[in-house]
Amino acid sequence: MAGRILLIPDGPASLLYATELVEKLRQKRYSVQVAPTAYDGPSATAFVSELAWATLSGHPCRPIEALDEAAFREQDLILLGPVSPRVFSIFCQGKALSYLQAAGRPVLALLPQLCQGEPAPALEGGTFSQLMPPGSSLLAGGVPHSLGALGSLLLPPLEEVLSQVDCLLSSRDYAGKKVLITAGPTAEDLDPVRFLTNRSTGKMGFALARDAALRGAQVLLVHGPVALTVPRLPNLTAISVRSATQMHQAVMDHWQEQDLAILAAAVADFQPLHCAETKIKKGEAQELSLPLKRTPDILATLGALPRRPFLVGFAAESDDVEANAQLKLRKKHCDLLCANDVRQPGCGFAVDTNQVTILAPDAPPLALPLKSKDEVAHAILSEILRRIPNS
Ligand code: C5P
Repeated sequence: MAGRILLIPDGPASLLYATELVEKLRQKRYSVQVAPTAYDGPSATAFVSELAWATLSGHPCRPIEALDEAAFREQDLILLGPVSPRVFSIFCQGKALSYLQAAGRPVLALLPQLCQGEPAPALEGGTFSQLMPPGSSLLAGGVPHSLGALGSLLLPPLEEVLSQVDCLLSSRDYAGKKVLITAGPTAEDLDPVRFLTNRSTGKMGFALARDAALRGAQVLLVHGPVALTVPRLPNLTAISVRSATQMHQAVMDHWQEQDLAILAAAVADFQPLHCAETKIKKGEAQELSLPLKRTPDILATLGALPRRPFLVGFAAESDDVEANAQLKLRKKHCDLLCANDVRQPGCGFAVDTNQVTILAPDAPPLALPLKSKDEVAHAILSEILRRIPNS
């Protein structure tokens, strides 16, 4: 992710929270500069020296007093916090606020709380949204975070902060689009304790859902049983299902509202002919045959509809990848098909990377490089946007 962030930390939360935040932001390839508070008392520099901030961030550290309008203007986002209520209201009365207002860069303020429900500090001269530049937002409290011998504070979970940062800094090129995404495996019950499933973890589909939502789409994520947490984004709704039949039903209930459907789920092709009401006993049997029947093919069903959303399928193949994927593209009437070879190292199920080749009926195959699933999701969505009508 590209973007320049100015982090203004304060107080003891600098030590075990803001330092981790700097590291995580840098892992996401953001450029981070730190302007710590440096007053006589529990300021950020009392806990982490200027030299340590510079070393962690890879940029010279400028104490907050040294900031001028240009220092704010050269950033894309100001991350103010964690900052104590007292320092926050001092900040809002000082010169820094007028520089910030003139520079017009959005602020994400992180306000710790001592206990649940503690009110946000009263600000002189207006409310947070009146005082801060447009696009600013505030995260207050959250989950207990240990400050060692100093006790603990309620702070927004770092993952939530990172999501908000991504949201504030991503391009909104999917604004106004409605996107349905299927993800994960399905589970086909044999009896009350056993089921058939596959090795999909849902990572690719979840990465697509998150990226589309960050880029402004209204996302509906229909997912099978997964261990992942649904991204907490206001424009992302999730429906959790278990079986292929339930996933089919959820998609049929919602496809008409969508501009785009990306079917990334590894849907079971077969389900038991009957699900036993009680646990199947092994008795003396040495062999067991399970009669299976086909599940509904969601992608093919959507592909056969006369008026349907722009349709993107996935094909995880283990042999003759391109030929099999080309066949699938045409048979299921997709607009695009993302093919991957699950035998290749770093591809397919339960890994954080993927290598995808995008096939279209009317264009040569486009092989994307091996990258993290987040980056692959971003590249796939950019490719879709180039081809989707009226975009
Ligand atoms: O035929 P195959 O299962 O390899 O096709 C994969 C594509 O079809 C994926 O996009 C998958 O989500 C979709 N699919 C589906 N319903 C099924 C089987 C596959 O939507 N029952």
